[in-house]
Amino acid sequence: MATEVTTKEYRLLIGGQFVPAASGETFPTYNPATNEVIAHVPKAGREDVNRAVAAARKAFDEGPWGKMTPMERAKRMRRVAEILRERLEEIARLETLNCGKIIIESRADVAASANCFDYYANLTGHMWGETIPMNGPLFDYTVREPYGVCGQIIPWNFPLLMAAWKVAPALAAGNTIVLKPASATPLTALVLGEICQEADIPDGVVNILTGPGVEVGAAIAEHPDVDKIAFTGETETGREILRLSAGTIKKVSLELGGKSPNIVFSDADLEEAVNGSLFAIFTNAGQRCTARTRLFLHESIHDQFLSDFIAKAGKIRVGDPLEDATQMGPVISKRQCERVLSFIERARSEGANLALGGKRPDDEVLQKGNFIEPTIFTQVQNDMTIAQQEVFGPVLSVIRFRDESEVVEMANNTIYGLAATIWTNDLKRAHRLASRIRAGNVSINFPTVNPPEAPFGGFKQSGIGRELSRHALDLYTQVKNVVVNLADERFDWYGKWPVGQK
Ligand code: NAD
Repeated sequence: MATEVTTKEYRLLIGGQFVPAASGETFPTYNPATNEVIAHVPKAGREDVNRAVAAARKAFDEGPWGKMTPMERAKRMRRVAEILRERLEEIARLETLNCGKIIIESRADVAASANCFDYYANLTGHMWGETIPMNGPLFDYTVREPYGVCGQIIPWNFPLLMAAWKVAPALAAGNTIVLKPASATPLTALVLGEICQEADIPDGVVNILTGPGVEVGAAIAEHPDVDKIAFTGETETGREILRLSAGTIKKVSLELGGKSPNIVFSDADLEEAVNGSLFAIFTNAGQRCTARTRLFLHESIHDQFLSDFIAKAGKIRVGDPLEDATQMGPVISKRQCERVLSFIERARSEGANLALGGKRPDDEVLQKGNFIEPTIFTQVQNDMTIAQQEVFGPVLSVIRFRDESEVVEMANNTIYGLAATIWTNDLKRAHRLASRIRAGNVSINFPTVNPPEAPFGGFKQSGIGRELSRHALDLYTQVKNVVVNLADERFDWYGKWPVGQK
């Protein structure tokens, strides 16, 4: 596998300036396909958080961003989308180098990030309020106002796209931002910062800090001058964010983990269900919060479906993610690789049957990277660790079911509620299940899709709030109510008090 090292010097973006960390420290970032260092990035600390928040505060309170017309903001956001498209191939390559996802998925992520900026550029003029009928001569209306400084903390599985999902709606609403990418994948977020500057988004509106979550992320979540926190990551980290932000009662939105069911009934188009189910678990090497990690098969089709499914999964080409022909890349880090392998061991010891994979590939070329074979466990019980905890790797649990009630009960029986898929040609059953499954995103006869137009987010411990769509504007604006007295008569409550009455 070719070694690629970026020669570029990466810097933090604070107040429109590209600067080193206050401490001067840097940290290495790796290529998960080879575990070689590809760049060094600044290691921000609390002092940098203070600088970035101060810049964002100033830009919000005094800068031109909030005073611009929605059209002017939209023009700059569209320019961000344009530059992303112009540089698509280069940025996709950088994404693949830094997070290991296959190049075709990285290209799709850059294109989707550009679409996200365009979508929210179109909504800058849509932050509408209401007029509210009142008794008497009162006129009442609401306005939606930006929160101010938004701290945004994102994970490593979709480094650029998660940044776009956070930054674009916050900008559309007129906020300013301090964004912290995951420590493992800092590069494309820093490039997005450069693009925002090139697109004439005013200095201090977008600030980007790279550094460890426990220090930089925590300092953002606690900072008294940050008005809102938007976080995507593990449920456990989400809990910590809630604790840290409680001190200053921040507005918080969370996009967290999942253990999503994928349910196949006997009346489904089984070939399509096999293909869709492969996509639903093995894209991005299973590192999707919406990965359909539990495959529920009706007993009448269980064996036939599995034999087709396993045969196709066994042919997935694992390899160099920069090669167009590769279908699955490595997981993000050595640590994650070990974690996934330990889940595999645990599943075996709890009695699940390893039907495919379960180890690192034998191929000599792949030994340096964090590759794991597509892995399928059959005869899984829904209460086993492998069916309850988020693995975040290419590992599927297959569970047999008898009827609709049983599968709904099992599908809902986790702490998560992010997504679900139902494969059936029975229209009534499809909608019945869509309403009974406790998840924020249900797809019917389709694996998973998240266009900017549709809301995205979790029930239960999968999160708080909805990203994407018009709903994301609710995450980045607050409602102000204004009441106006139109009466000619003077208001005088105490003057009207009947004489002698207390
Ligand atoms: P993570 O929780 O380890 O890290 C997420 C971010 O939080 C990173 O930027 C990290 O540096 C930072 N962080 C870590 N500790 C922190 C702390 N104490 N205080 C503040 N910030 C801290 O998650 P990850 O491993 O990067 O990503 C994988 C997880 O993200 C999975 O659980 C996955 O399901 C979830 N995810 C959810 C969605 C969604 O939209 N629901 C999307 C993608 C990923």
